[in-house]
Amino acid sequence: MSVLEIRDLHVSVETEQGTKPILRGVDLTIRKGETHAIMGPNGSGKSTLAYTIAGHPKYTVDSGSITLDGEDVLAMSVDERARAGLFLAMQYPVEIPGVTVTNFLRTAKTAVEGEAPAIRGWIKDVRESMKNLRMEPAFAERNVNEGFSGGEKKRHEILQLELLKPQFAVLDETDSGLDVDALKIVSEGVNRAKENTGLGVLLITHYTRILRYIKPDFVHVFVAGKIAEQGGPELADRLENEGYDRFLVDAVVAP
Ligand code: ADP
Ligand code: MG
Ligand code: MG
Repeated sequence: MSVLEIRDLHVSVETEQGTKPILRGVDLTIRKGETHAIMGPNGSGKSTLAYTIAGHPKYTVDSGSITLDGEDVLAMSVDERARAGLFLAMQYPVEIPGVTVTNFLRTAKTAVEGEAPAIRGWIKDVRESMKNLRMEPAFAERNVNEGFSGGEKKRHEILQLELLKPQFAVLDETDSGLDVDALKIVSEGVNRAKENTGLGVLLITHYTRILRYIKPDFVHVFVAGKIAEQGGPELADRLENEGYDRFLVDAVVAP
């Protein structure tokens, strides 16, 4: 059984004012098939955790570890992380001039698998996944992220998820900017991946809305760079009612 383990992770970023510590001792264990929601106020470091797992060069790991089945993820390049089975939705956030969705997906699949997928089956898989996500076939011929709407970007992320079949996915604010219909379609895609491949999910979100569609097994409240509380799905319900105020008071009193 695959497991992604984060141990006492401390991460900082260089700013014009100097080194700024952001993550202050994060501990988290995600097993394959589990969905963990990370919730928390803005600025608490949720995206920093996602970027650190993704290997973004801006973020410096000062101490602690991230391992996948005991392998040192922090020692891996971004490509190696993808090959090891990590899916990081924010990995390719920028426009890629002249690269169509079709070509991008095939290149990504080839990089992850170590060989190009057989063309017939691949085309069928792409079509089927696009249909599942209610995407027009013409979308496949557009350039990656060029003029994509917020909703199209998210669907493109989930399309990658369906086709690349990773072991673990980190989804940062996948719900932001989606209307209810798009949110349902995107959530169905994640749920299909959970059912079909036993995907482990780290779902980062500020709001509880997406958790109505993607049911978390565990909920972690992130405050001031670490997990302040954890529980089951009922914790999300409580946050929906109470917000983050009670955590913020604690954070100020005991920084
Ligand atoms: P969240 O995703 O929970 O809103 P972030 O991880 O984006 O939080 O940010 C956590 C804190 O770290 C914030 O105070 C933010 O301003 C700061 N921060 C994050 N990334 C950078 C960066 N690249 N440069 C400077 N400060 C950053
Ligand atoms: Mg933020
Ligand atoms: Mg964020």
